[in-house]
Amino acid sequence: MTDEFTTTVYTDSDAESAQLANKTVAVLGYGSQGHAHAQNLDDSGVDVVVGLRPSSRSREHAKDDGLRVATPADAAAEADIVVMLVPDTVQPSVYETVAPELDPGDTLQFAHGFNVHYGQIEPPEDVNVTMVAPKGPGHLVRRTYERGEGTPGLFAVYQDATGEASAQALAYAQAIGCTRAGVIETTFREETETDLFGEQAVLCGGVTDLVKAGYETLVDAGYSPEMAYFECLNELKLIVDLLYEGGHMEMWNSVSDTAEYGGLTRGEDVVDREAMEAILDGVQSGEFAREWISENQANRPAYKQYRHAEQNHEIEEVGDRLRELFAWGEESKEPAPADD
Ligand code: NAD
Ligand code: MG
Ligand code: MG
Ligand code: MG
Ligand code: MG
Repeated sequence: MTDEFTTTVYTDSDAESAQLANKTVAVLGYGSQGHAHAQNLDDSGVDVVVGLRPSSRSREHAKDDGLRVATPADAAAEADIVVMLVPDTVQPSVYETVAPELDPGDTLQFAHGFNVHYGQIEPPEDVNVTMVAPKGPGHLVRRTYERGEGTPGLFAVYQDATGEASAQALAYAQAIGCTRAGVIETTFREETETDLFGEQAVLCGGVTDLVKAGYETLVDAGYSPEMAYFECLNELKLIVDLLYEGGHMEMWNSVSDTAEYGGLTRGEDVVDREAMEAILDGVQSGEFAREWISENQANRPAYKQYRHAEQNHEIEEVGDRLRELFAWGEESKEPAPADD
């Protein structure tokens, strides 16, 4: 344990690999997280079976990677730990097929808390319910592991039926390489609410709208789309890299004093903190979750409309054209997921 943090950060020496000895892990799904967890567990000497539907095209990939494949129900039947790594929106229906195979003392594990936190999956009381969530996409979870490194991660215990749920989750985090980088304990509620808030207000929603608003403001004022693209989108990566590597001061120290003064005095004018609080309220009250669940039940009409508008935004066409000119950086791209 490393104590200089306010939250405990667990590392390799805190995990007992014996927790997974003689256990079989069923990894359900072979997408971004699934392929990485399954291969890392296998390389760590853990007995793994991948659970996929007979029609799944991911079956061939898993077999090519040297893994055993079974249906989700058969995989869960032989497993002690069942890991839900299918998309969050299909987890409730996959859960229906594996629930009869959960024996007392088994573990049902997640990489995101949405379905448990919002009551879409209600596991029986005699199984452990845990979460191990790498803070990174699957291809990095796999690639860093192969290099002897790891991706930082979170773990949480929602329900401890055996008294060993926490130790087992840590051992799992070790087997997929996360304790090499450091693992933090959280709760299903905290992980779910912070994840949804972050992706809506800052990471996915906030940043794309910031870029589009900046781009549109310049183009509407008569500046060229190419200049607007470079200024508002392309340069964002350079700024985010500095923030990521060394925090706010590293970024402010690296830009000109003019940029620093202008940014410090004007930046907060563009962020609406009341709107952010309203987004957090919608997450905490379950309003967003209810909206997204019924959107899925209705076959995603609004989702399709928003995606269509995003695809047809002028910045996409300008960006495609300009990125052709400097088409490197392929290494950091997530491989296209296997389609089901
Ligand atoms: P994904 O979409 O990449 O992969 C899902 C896989 O599930 C598919 O490749 C397929 O093998 C299988 N699948 C799809 N539909 C199915 C169905 N109807 N029935 C059975 N199997 C089906 O998913 P992902 O991004 O790896 O997400 C898995 C979990 O990990 C989610 O809970 C997600 O929130 C969580 N998570 C993802 C990331 C990430 O960066 N991708 C990071 C942390 C946590
Ligand atoms: Mg079982
Ligand atoms: Mg997240
Ligand atoms: Mg998320
Ligand atoms: Mg500039």
